[in-house]
Amino acid sequence: MSRFFSDKYSSLTPYVPGEQPGNMSEFIKLNTNESPFPPSQKAIEYALNSTRALNLYSDPDSLELTKTIASLYGVGKDMVLVTNGSDEILNFAFMAFTDSINPALFADITYGFYPVFASLNGSKTEIIPLRDDFTLSVDDYIGKKGTVFIANPNAPTGMTVPVSEIERLVKSDPDRVVVIDEAYVDFGGESAVELVHKYDNILICQTFSKSRSFAGGRLGYGIGSPQLISDLNTVKYSTNPYNINSMTSSMGIGILKDEEYTRKNCRTIMENRSFTVKELEKLGFRVLPSNANFIFVSSPEIEGGEYYRKLKEKKILVRHFDKERIAPWCRVSIGTREQMEIYLEATKEILEEKP
Ligand code: PMP
Repeated sequence: MSRFFSDKYSSLTPYVPGEQPGNMSEFIKLNTNESPFPPSQKAIEYALNSTRALNLYSDPDSLELTKTIASLYGVGKDMVLVTNGSDEILNFAFMAFTDSINPALFADITYGFYPVFASLNGSKTEIIPLRDDFTLSVDDYIGKKGTVFIANPNAPTGMTVPVSEIERLVKSDPDRVVVIDEAYVDFGGESAVELVHKYDNILICQTFSKSRSFAGGRLGYGIGSPQLISDLNTVKYSTNPYNINSMTSSMGIGILKDEEYTRKNCRTIMENRSFTVKELEKLGFRVLPSNANFIFVSSPEIEGGEYYRKLKEKKILVRHFDKERIAPWCRVSIGTREQMEIYLEATKEILEEKP
């Protein structure tokens, strides 16, 4: 640390992203929940023209893309804000709706960026443990003051909260914001986006990084009442007005024009997930019920950290979290059928090698 670093940030513990090894082609990458499928070819063709206008700044409102997303969900364009990945809309929500008085409320086991956003913004937090079986009960949040952040499906568990329960939470206190992070909703989850028509205190965050095969393009968005979106725009225009580059914006429109490709890939991922779960259960693994493009797995025969290391020796990357409550577990992204077969074979070998 330099002697110039502001006291505001010097005690930050930054978010640690999953490994992106330089020699990526040597690995089967099941550690950052990316899609194993390339982006839509139609979208690539649609976006190619946008490179010709790169001498100009991008449209700070990303109007075409915003309108395309708005019409997909049947909301006004003033109810949508597009961002540089959904990480950015989440950060904007922490900036806009939490502070040293109004805390951020979120689970102990959830997306690891939430506590980092909170501390970056100097916000108070209240951590609300998941139940023993890793379920989230909205009753644990009702009656508490503060802005709620729920990943639904949750990461790294993959487990979901029914939309009826989300609605009960949103309704229980119209004077606080509930942020629902739906990064993984397209793999069998149920979106709460309809609730934006009924309540002005819910913000839905989604991404192009998972189901839409566009993690490298960095595109996410929030949907909520015009007032919430206006607040988030104030934050955006005070940090980075040109947050979406023109190529990404065009790709986003192209991807949404090819929804069939996205849906087909999601179906394949869900099939591969069922196949992998069945095979792991035959090997004695416990697998939490997942509606995401990853599964959270543990075996009575091998500790989570060791399983992660042994898989890495076999050139397979999964994610292990250095957190006591989930130390026995690893999160495994769902890839192609072939990748999952290789992963399962490696797992069998690892278990056989154990004394
Ligand atoms: N929410 C959750 C729960 C995630 O796991 C991730 C991916 N790391 C994100 C949001 C952010 O993804 P992105 O910024 O790529 O949209």
